[in-house]
Amino acid sequence: MSNKSINLTEQLYAYLLDVSLRESDILKALREETSSLPTANMQIAPEQGQFMALLVQLIGAKNTIEVGVYTGYSALAVAMALPDNGQIIACDISEEYTNIARHYWLEAGVSQKIDLRLAPAMETLGSLINEGRSSTFDFAFIDADKESYAGYFELCFDLLRPGGLIAIDNVLWDGAVIDHHKQDVDTCAIRTFNQQLLSDNRVDISLVPIADGLTLARKK
Ligand code: SAM
Ligand code: CA
Repeated sequence: MSNKSINLTEQLYAYLLDVSLRESDILKALREETSSLPTANMQIAPEQGQFMALLVQLIGAKNTIEVGVYTGYSALAVAMALPDNGQIIACDISEEYTNIARHYWLEAGVSQKIDLRLAPAMETLGSLINEGRSSTFDFAFIDADKESYAGYFELCFDLLRPGGLIAIDNVLWDGAVIDHHKQDVDTCAIRTFNQQLLSDNRVDISLVPIADGLTLARKK
């Protein structure tokens, strides 16, 4: 028995997947195609995709935001869990990566739910606010450049309705957050973000040690 998060060995992780992962063929195919790319470790873990799909169902999400699409795995997992009239505003700057995403979204029959905006996410989120969409979104997933996490969080917070949920990825950053030899921009940004969120009384929070660490923040 353990009163702290268990240390997942390779074998225990394999067991976790064996007894709980219900990955559709299309998600699996996308994960396999992405695994051949040199940047494959940017993709979220499959059990995390399943967890996020469960979250959007639990909160009855309809309008959602994704910051950082890459080859589209997290967006696909969420889109498949949304109702028919659900929507993801999906932000990325890479045409190359998102071309792969588009292909799988189409094949999965969810492309009408995903509005891909190819522009710096700060601009896309800012324009949503200018269009009067503050307090109208149910869920946001933040997984783009780490330096901008604090900025993305503020804009997503504005766009979320009270009771809406923001999920922020890579908050444990492969353990670098506790290695004080690591002072690169990304690591420092995540450390600062985590520390600031702890005292942010506008949200209820939980840091879930799934994959590379996923913080959930519910707007009060
Ligand atoms: N959520 C994705 C998944 O499940 O596979 C992984 C996202 S990957 C870690 C980060 C993505 O953020 C990359 O595709 C990159 O092109 C994008 N990105 C980087 N800087 C950005 C910016 N300023 N605005 C929007 N997207 C950006
Ligand atoms: Ca990530």
